[in-house]
Amino acid sequence: MVPAGLATAASLKAAREAIAAGVTTLQVDAAAERAIVAAGGVSNFQMVPGYRHTICASVNEDIVHAIPSNRVLQPGDIISVDSGAYLDGWNGDAAITVVVPGGEDLDAVAEREELSRVTEQALWHGIAQLARARHLNEVGAAIEDFVRSQGDYGILENYVGHGVGRDMHEDPTVFNYRVNRKGPEVKPGLVVAIEPMLTTGSNETFVQEDGWTVTTIDNSMGCQWEHTVAVHHDGIWVLTAEDGGAAGLNQFGITPKPFA
Ligand code: MG
Repeated sequence: MVPAGLATAASLKAAREAIAAGVTTLQVDAAAERAIVAAGGVSNFQMVPGYRHTICASVNEDIVHAIPSNRVLQPGDIISVDSGAYLDGWNGDAAITVVVPGGEDLDAVAEREELSRVTEQALWHGIAQLARARHLNEVGAAIEDFVRSQGDYGILENYVGHGVGRDMHEDPTVFNYRVNRKGPEVKPGLVVAIEPMLTTGSNETFVQEDGWTVTTIDNSMGCQWEHTVAVHHDGIWVLTAEDGGAAGLNQFGITPKPFA
């Protein structure tokens, strides 16, 4: 799964580089697609029935699953980009969030930057917990505990993380909040996409008429960060990070282990 993960990371790096005021989300999509093809993969989002694009590009009050379009990014917009690559019969799945530079409403920019920071850190808390966990529900508890410590954010419950493998979406479910059932044992061979989705307000959402875009019901801002993470005999490895997650896990005293 390493090549699929690296192709996914490359697509998000290309998307990040493409994001700027004046650019359309379709242009960001094209940049991500080129990177996946250059890495020898194909977009697994394009393999989802009814979906034709490489990324989901969710801007402001859209949280996830927004379809790339001619929407022009504005200074201060917060955009979450979700992407995945299929390569050598395996899948990767990851997401990043960027606040478009140049916003003049400094309070709004600060709120959005903070939402992205908290969501990304929630992801790393979840990944760190996976490295220590006996059961998968410990990941969601760690995410929720961190988010609650940071302020009054909404944690989506209608959308959750998942196993990744031959298919992009597999069992088991990875919750971003506390659940009573323990879930499967965390052991070598488990590969999951951990993907906290937060809002600055309510966690209630609706799906737009396009059938895909998930939007906050109270017009609060939405944000998603995601990585695909493998548990193996020597430890964990973040497949969709070029460094295996070393930079993000350093704060927890955890060193990701490459595959022997
Ligand atoms: Mg996912």
